[in-house]
Amino acid sequence: MTTIRTRIAPSPTGFLHLGTARTALYSWAYARHHGGEFVLRIEDTDVARSTQDSVDQILQSMHWLGLGYDEGPIYQMQRLERYQAVIDQMLAVGTAYRCYCTPEDLEAMKAAQEARGEKRLYDRTWRPQPGKVLPPVPAGVKPVIRFANPVDGMVTWDDLVKGPISISNTEIDDLIIQRASEEGAPEGAPGVPTYNFAVVVDDWDMAISHVFRGDEHINNTPWQINMYRALGAALPQFGHLPVILGDDGQKLSKRRGAVAVSNYEEAGYLPAAMNNYLARLGWSHGDEELFSLDQMVQWFDGTHLSKSPAQWDAAKLAWVNAQHLKVMDDAALAELVQAQLHKRGVTTDARLSALCGLFKDRCDTTVMLADWVAKFYTEVTPNPEELAQHVTDAVRPALALLAEKLATCAWDKAAIAAALKEVLTSLGLKMPQLAMPVRVLVLGTAQTPSLDAVLALSSREKILALLQKP
Ligand code: GLU
Repeated sequence: MTTIRTRIAPSPTGFLHLGTARTALYSWAYARHHGGEFVLRIEDTDVARSTQDSVDQILQSMHWLGLGYDEGPIYQMQRLERYQAVIDQMLAVGTAYRCYCTPEDLEAMKAAQEARGEKRLYDRTWRPQPGKVLPPVPAGVKPVIRFANPVDGMVTWDDLVKGPISISNTEIDDLIIQRASEEGAPEGAPGVPTYNFAVVVDDWDMAISHVFRGDEHINNTPWQINMYRALGAALPQFGHLPVILGDDGQKLSKRRGAVAVSNYEEAGYLPAAMNNYLARLGWSHGDEELFSLDQMVQWFDGTHLSKSPAQWDAAKLAWVNAQHLKVMDDAALAELVQAQLHKRGVTTDARLSALCGLFKDRCDTTVMLADWVAKFYTEVTPNPEELAQHVTDAVRPALALLAEKLATCAWDKAAIAAALKEVLTSLGLKMPQLAMPVRVLVLGTAQTPSLDAVLALSSREKILALLQKP
């Protein structure tokens, strides 16, 4: 049996996009499910737009998501000699050829085709044919290399996501697989190939068995399949994932909101929740909405992939994140919250885990959790409306009595609860009449977890000072 090998092949022209992250997740989970291997390849042949900063961001986001790779990162720009060798071989056997058309020639070709109402396709002027006399090679024109695509017949594949797809070779032309070498490039240096060619050589060399990618690549697949055949290479299976649409039904894009994985890391989302949410955008396992990466690996066998576009739903992501946050270990959560607070210049202490445990139920993100926790380490400014509503002259005596009791009681939840009760009994008050003002003074708002727990995690000095503040 052949080993299942999948890959993710981002172009380093920006951050790791949510769509690419979903493809990476599916590819990774598919390999893991089958005990196979997952490769990370950096498709950096667009030299003008590729940057090291993008590579770093992509690797960092992959790391954050926990999608480990068995091989890579492999950089296409380090494989130029290999591509050149394959091109030389194709030129030798006639599955590729040099084309000396100038941009002006191509413009004229396009105009003539348009005038005749024909589809715009390269007319194969420079493609050698038995008995055909090629035009004289023009002086000073550097050639591009084109693939000699079959001129007729159908290209058909059974897409893992979309089912059978057929495209006629008459619909496609002889695509450029290597552009003319740059002005001033050293003589004999290998040229830079185009995406469609490099991807085939790479997936072939790297023995990729299953290619998952966005469905914007469906139109590229017939060329790629033809090149595999021309090279005598075994075909991988292809699975083209539908686009992710934004909340507004348009393709998810930067203009319409956060599309970088790193944006979600900064906004306090958990990798477990991101993976969970991304997994459900285009795949399902029964009615399961909440699951871990391990569970996904057990279930992700390449079936139940959706053919239709998924819709990004920020509210659902927040809900999924909240569910993962709730069940997360307090100490692990404390590490994340500490990092958030560190960025804000807030120093924490041994109470941090317990504070995370106390507030995690009411937070969607670790940023929200850090907002709550920060109140224990910084000065709180109460909400003015709540202050006026709850901290009235009528409750001042109760606050003074509570301060008196809290000054001497043991500093734990049970003793603090008892002190609160004593104040209620001696002044004939109900719990909210006392608890609301104390909450507003301590945490700035009346909506907080149980007061004894909040106070037990605050310092006695701070509470006494707040209660006695005029
Ligand atoms: N570099 C291509 C992209 O980012 C990869 C496409 C593929 O997976 O074949 O779209």
